[in-house]
Amino acid sequence: MFYDNGHVHIEDEDQCMTCENFNKGVACPLIQALGLGFVSFEEHLLVTSCGFFKKFERHLKVVSTKEVAKKET
Ligand code: SF4
Repeated sequence: MFYDNGHVHIEDEDQCMTCENFNKGVACPLIQALGLGFVSFEEHLLVTSCGFFKKFERHLKVVSTKEVAKKET
């Protein structure tokens, strides 16, 4: 991720992709602060050290088609 000319660029390999804040959309405190102009980068920042990272965990549950049919009736 890097900040350039008023824009925050997030690259595929950035840890942001697995961050709860990133998955919620605009919940990232760092991106908000950058967008509002409260902070700016003097050097490249590694998102692994952003200080706000929260791991996003997916919780998937497999259900049978019978259970789905029951709920629909
Ligand atoms: S909190 Fe850190 S890791 Fe998460 S989206 Fe913001 S910059 Fe990326």
